[in-house]
Amino acid sequence: MNGLMQQRQLLISDLIEHAASNHGDQEIVSSLGDGNIHRYTWSAARGRAKQVANLVQSLGVAVGQRVATLASNTHRHLELYYGVCGTGAVLTTVNPRLFTEQIVYILNHSGSTHVFFDVSLAKLVAEIAPQCPNIKGFIALCEAGQMPDLAVPGLACYESLMAGCSDLYAWPQLDENSASSMCYTSGTTGKPKGVLYSHRSTVLHAMATCMADSFAISARDSILLIVPMFHVNGWGIPHSSAMAGAKLILPGSQLSGENVYSMLRDEKCTVSCGVPTVWLSLLEYAENVDPDQRRRDIVATRVLSGGSAAPRRIIEKFEQYFGVYLCQAWGMTETSPVVTVNVPLSRHDNLTLDERFDLQMLAGRPLPGTEIAIFDDEGNRLPHDGHTTGQLKVRGPWIARAYYNREDDAWDANDWFATGDMATLNADGYLKITDRAKDVIKSGGEWISSLDLESAALSHPAIEEAAVIGLRHSHWQERPLLIAVKRNGMDVTAEAMLEHMRNHVAKWWLPDDVVFVDALPHTATGKLYKLPLRKQFESFRFSTDVENA
Ligand code: ADP
Repeated sequence: MNGLMQQRQLLISDLIEHAASNHGDQEIVSSLGDGNIHRYTWSAARGRAKQVANLVQSLGVAVGQRVATLASNTHRHLELYYGVCGTGAVLTTVNPRLFTEQIVYILNHSGSTHVFFDVSLAKLVAEIAPQCPNIKGFIALCEAGQMPDLAVPGLACYESLMAGCSDLYAWPQLDENSASSMCYTSGTTGKPKGVLYSHRSTVLHAMATCMADSFAISARDSILLIVPMFHVNGWGIPHSSAMAGAKLILPGSQLSGENVYSMLRDEKCTVSCGVPTVWLSLLEYAENVDPDQRRRDIVATRVLSGGSAAPRRIIEKFEQYFGVYLCQAWGMTETSPVVTVNVPLSRHDNLTLDERFDLQMLAGRPLPGTEIAIFDDEGNRLPHDGHTTGQLKVRGPWIARAYYNREDDAWDANDWFATGDMATLNADGYLKITDRAKDVIKSGGEWISSLDLESAALSHPAIEEAAVIGLRHSHWQERPLLIAVKRNGMDVTAEAMLEHMRNHVAKWWLPDDVVFVDALPHTATGKLYKLPLRKQFESFRFSTDVENA
């Protein structure tokens, strides 16, 4: 027997309709990169999104067809987020920081027919255009007077096209399972893989991230979206902020510590989201601001951090400088991305600050709708006891069930998606990521967590950044090597480093050697990139390796 409830579809267009109708005068603030700030409201954004819908239809873009962006976080990108998928077309947000050959691969593999791009990326566009024969039009996100001098097919000016488009448009009542947008994984070890989101998965994800024990986004919030909108839907904030009717601040590509600080201060942001490297720059800048001034300037109560593990130092400094709670979240492109969020339970009310920092180091608990579990190599479930490490698998309505046009064995018959992360889960369901499976160090049949070792190294005040990789050892199979960057003007010896780390990890985990370098490699999303490090240290022999003698 079916229930007698309406079968209204969950559609992304309804999010902006809700924001415009119920929070119409709430602001969207966008930094244009030339020092100018653009301001309008959710109500105006809806009108512009409808103009975009008319625009893409005038370009001949059909339902299901892919339209790409190469763009930073601006109001124009937001309009494309709603206007393109509102017509039934699919928005493919491409990360301009990827290698050119990866960008070309994504544009061709996704079958995108049009690319909307930031003028600052004109050189990149000139390079990729000849390699993407199916792209009929390149639309520059600018005013007529700012058009780049480019010889690419169908070059057009966004604002000129928009001027000719009506802001009247009736959003079609699509099937909620229709594809809405597509993001590609960074492909640090192979070709990028396309993850094709649906209207339904996007709306459910937005709803779950608004919840109180989640990002807790409300109409009272002013959100600084630092996470790029070209990376995993900007953690769904463009959608959840509309659902909640929150004020949204889009910082463009100006992400220096000073700029982030100014935006947090000037727009009275209550919440912000970004990756740990962005927080590091912010904290470095804030270090030189008068402590009382800092507290007055920043009214935020929380920052959301994900993409890689937040070092304890960052968590502590947010508390110390601003009284801000750093809330870790975990997820990935395949999971929309948010699956777990670290919010304390009432039983944590009486923790000492130090104990609370320990808790904040964890990646959080699963949002309702998602399930997470750890498994051994044979597919058996492992206990949630806080110390058994296993392969992390997830399932739920905003988890991918396949990659776009590509076979992959990451899924089992019960919908469990193997994330490629190694993790522990405790009895309360708090997740701790111990490694990417490919980074795990296998020493004498036991596993050593490179993330725990990096975290221990980073707790030394003289260390700016640290990477631990497993390298061949004739007796132990693999042993950890610590590769670290010293902070400007500070010094520490390898022996002193190991002595310091001894207080944080089991003795047999300690790296066999420490190497100091000037800089470490990063991926296009700002994460430590261990592949080139492994290559660079391929022939390294540990001082503890007897075969080395
Ligand atoms: P990629 O890095 O391949 O572009 P994602 O951006 O989807 O892909 O990154 C997802 C990965 O980032 C996760 O599988 C995990 O390894 C890492 N990650 C995300 N959040 C956290 C976190 N809070 N702590 C530790 N690792 C994290």
